[in-house]
Amino acid sequence: MNLRKQILTQNDCYRRGRTIVPQGVMIHSTGANNPRLSRYVAPNDGLLGEPALRHWNQPGVGACPHAFIGRLADGSVAAYQTLPWTMRGWHCGRSGNDTHISFEICEDGLADAGYFQGVYREAVELTAHLCREFGLDPLGDGVVLCHAEGYKRGIASNHGDVLHWFPKFGKSMDDFRADVDNELEGDNLDEQRIRAIVREEYAAMEAERAKLPASGWAKQGLAEAKARGINDGTRPQSYATRQEVALMVNAAVK
Ligand SMILES: [Zn+2]
Repeated sequence: MNLRKQILTQNDCYRRGRTIVPQGVMIHSTGANNPRLSRYVAPNDGLLGEPALRHWNQPGVGACPHAFIGRLADGSVAAYQTLPWTMRGWHCGRSGNDTHISFEICEDGLADAGYFQGVYREAVELTAHLCREFGLDPLGDGVVLCHAEGYKRGIASNHGDVLHWFPKFGKSMDDFRADVDNELEGDNLDEQRIRAIVREEYAAMEAERAKLPASGWAKQGLAEAKARGINDGTRPQSYATRQEVALMVNAAVK
């Protein structure tokens, strides 16, 4: 994640200064072909580049999300926090503003797979970061939504973002939520969990090995050993313990 901060203190939303207790994250995309962060985020911090005349760090804009994802001046992808996370944003026109942290992904022409993969990854990581910070379950009902899903639930105005874009590159919002959840799962790989995984895998390998048939070259000899009472013929590919070997030797020399 490449998360930076440029709070839009001149935006009317910031100046209003209302707060929320975040219960979710709503994902938007801008609906305009302009992938540059400097279209919205100002002033130039040396990375953003010179802002557009109608950037959003000024009065009269009428909207403000908590973050933007898009291109820096050098073309690389970054996320910029533009409101304190617990400030009430103006992003979805309805009650979702009272509950959800929001970010806008700057759209390009919606045909560039490389740009999509860059901003999608950044969006997954930013959402995971917010879920971590505010104790949110990304798979919980209504927690992580896009604007279009918010509209279906009656908590956002009638917009289609991001469902006019993500599916072009094979991603649904369920995929997005699962990817955020995977990102959080990575946090839980402490030593205890890793040891448990190793033990599970080892047990699974042993169980698989016990099911394997005898190799062709060993079949006849194994049948003979079984006939002589040296070996019961089961689990021919499993490892023998020292005690099993001792009993087999005893049986052979009788
Ligand atoms: Zn939207």
